[in-house]
Amino acid sequence: MQTILIIEDEIDIAELIRLNLERNQFSTELAHDGQTGINKALEHLPDLIILDLMLPVKDGMEVFKELSNDDRTRSIPVLMLTAKAQIEDRIAGLAVGADDYLTKPFSPKELTLRVKAILKRQSRSEHSSIFECPPFKFNTSNLQLFADNELITLTTTEFKLLLYLCERVNIPQDRYTILKEVWGYHDEVNSRTLDTHMKRLRQKVGDHAHLIETVRGIGYQIISQ
Ligand code: CA
Repeated sequence: MQTILIIEDEIDIAELIRLNLERNQFSTELAHDGQTGINKALEHLPDLIILDLMLPVKDGMEVFKELSNDDRTRSIPVLMLTAKAQIEDRIAGLAVGADDYLTKPFSPKELTLRVKAILKRQSRSEHSSIFECPPFKFNTSNLQLFADNELITLTTTEFKLLLYLCERVNIPQDRYTILKEVWGYHDEVNSRTLDTHMKRLRQKVGDHAHLIETVRGIGYQIISQ
């Protein structure tokens, strides 16, 4: 059973997260302030940490830095919770190396999906260069993509783009985050580049193009077959 450490001072939210994760067969540990969070991380070495940014005693960013500077906890993936939708918070969280973030209020179901996606990515990077998201199969060591076992030639950017979306299957990804993660930066020119790439990807995957969905007002998502 995988253990998730929840560092969140709002008792109701922490409890809601705990219940949902336990319902999904995860074991949980709770901490209601930053310092207790660090102590519990070192004590239990959890598989993943859910970290609220606004915390008493030691704030979430400070907790994240301390965990990243410790060899014992450095490789534990972190999902950050931010109270505001402000872009600066998201940039700050991803810039320091958080694996993902969620903005409050969030649905417990989405949180569980994100947790599972992070753990799946983690296990792939540890054990294998093959990632499957049927009908797609990615070989990340040589950037080959197969769809129903047929090789499809993609550029490096197209490969990264499709892999990014497939690693988050059924979760709409906003344009800003896709650009930031795949291209490394975001501006208006790039925004049009994204649509051009998606169009080419759809052409290349042919019969599977319908799995790449445009999500109006947000961005794109891959839907499971
Ligand atoms: Ca808080």
